[in-house]
Amino acid sequence: MPDHISASPSIETLLAAVSSEFDGAVAPPIVQTSLFTFDSYQAFEDRMAGRTDDPLYTRVQNPTVAALENMMAAAEQGEAAVGFASGMAAISSTVLAFVRPGDRIACVEHVYPDAYRLFERLLRPFGVEVTYHAVEEFQCNPDLLAGAKLAYLESPNSAVFQTMDLSVVASHAKRHGTLTVVDNSWATPVFQRPLTLGIDIVVHSASKYLSGHSDTVAGVVIARSDLIAQIRDLSLTLLGGKLAPFEAFLLTRGLRTLGARMRQHQSTADFLVERLSGHPLVSKVLSPAAGSVPGLTGRSGLMSVELDDTIDIPNFADALKLFQLGVSWGGFESLILPAQIALNQAGEQNSMQRFGVSGRIVRLSLGLEDPNDLWADFEAALKASAREK
Ligand SMILES: *Cc1c(COP(=O)(O)O)cnc(C)c1O
Repeated sequence: MPDHISASPSIETLLAAVSSEFDGAVAPPIVQTSLFTFDSYQAFEDRMAGRTDDPLYTRVQNPTVAALENMMAAAEQGEAAVGFASGMAAISSTVLAFVRPGDRIACVEHVYPDAYRLFERLLRPFGVEVTYHAVEEFQCNPDLLAGAKLAYLESPNSAVFQTMDLSVVASHAKRHGTLTVVDNSWATPVFQRPLTLGIDIVVHSASKYLSGHSDTVAGVVIARSDLIAQIRDLSLTLLGGKLAPFEAFLLTRGLRTLGARMRQHQSTADFLVERLSGHPLVSKVLSPAAGSVPGLTGRSGLMSVELDDTIDIPNFADALKLFQLGVSWGGFESLILPAQIALNQAGEQNSMQRFGVSGRIVRLSLGLEDPNDLWADFEAALKASAREK
């Protein structure tokens, strides 16, 4: 790792820092206002003319949202950040700020299913070309990005959790003038900081680990100041998918414990991976370990397992007592999502079908419960749902 990374404060320290902006208050006040007034004609005119940067209107600027944005910029070691109403608002606003008809997006296979639908159902009809590539192709083919406006990446990707060496892909992209975007929701800045690996833009679903409490839907984008300014000016302002002050407050609260929670998720994940890996009723465990690619320093609690043919998956799901059935992930509670349910999801453009995810796969989000209790629950459900060979 470059020297400047080890020299900077650790992420736990950054996320515990108290902002000097709120008169000694350690938690940011919720500034629940739509607009901000001005003392004089001159002050109002200066703001509208862009000569000052005081808050004007909460669609674009709000002090509680700014507190969250500053924390995330520090956490990802970026210059600036912008909050959004959801991860999908962050993703769509980022892509729409930079891509025009005739441009090509090179996207990783097994991308988050609604990002795939954004590309296929909205952007393709507007004349944007989208090509999909395996993680190895991004790494090993230096010319893959020739002529691509934007590379849309996840490492690890969704459902199957394949990783790529982001610094290698970033250097290919730089040679072709391709803008790189990485969805870092899985690793969080605690385990991976893509901007330090040469990636241009990090997007997050803040609804997952950043919030951590399954009570918020939000998104955030972190990048160089000029890129964030373009997103703010174009797609935040014109599409209007802003983060609300109350959600921003919940996120600053969640971020205070992010480091501690991620370490706990990692230790539970390591514990379960060890037991699952040798188990006769589990045929595959899909969970990248710390250090499996450069820059990935930890394993989060979201993984998939492929169950043996003898397991009746609906019976298995119904036999679990601690793991709940549901979408989303990254909260305090453990969840499972059987891939077959996602494969059968109603509506157009199913990326799980397109990229060939096996119906034997079950995604697990390991929460903050005792790992022994989780394993006991999981193993009992395996036994209860195994048919005779
Ligand atoms: C959930 C998720 C999103 C979308 O975020 P929302 O906050 O639900 O809009 C994007 N990327 C990944 C990897 C996700 O898991």
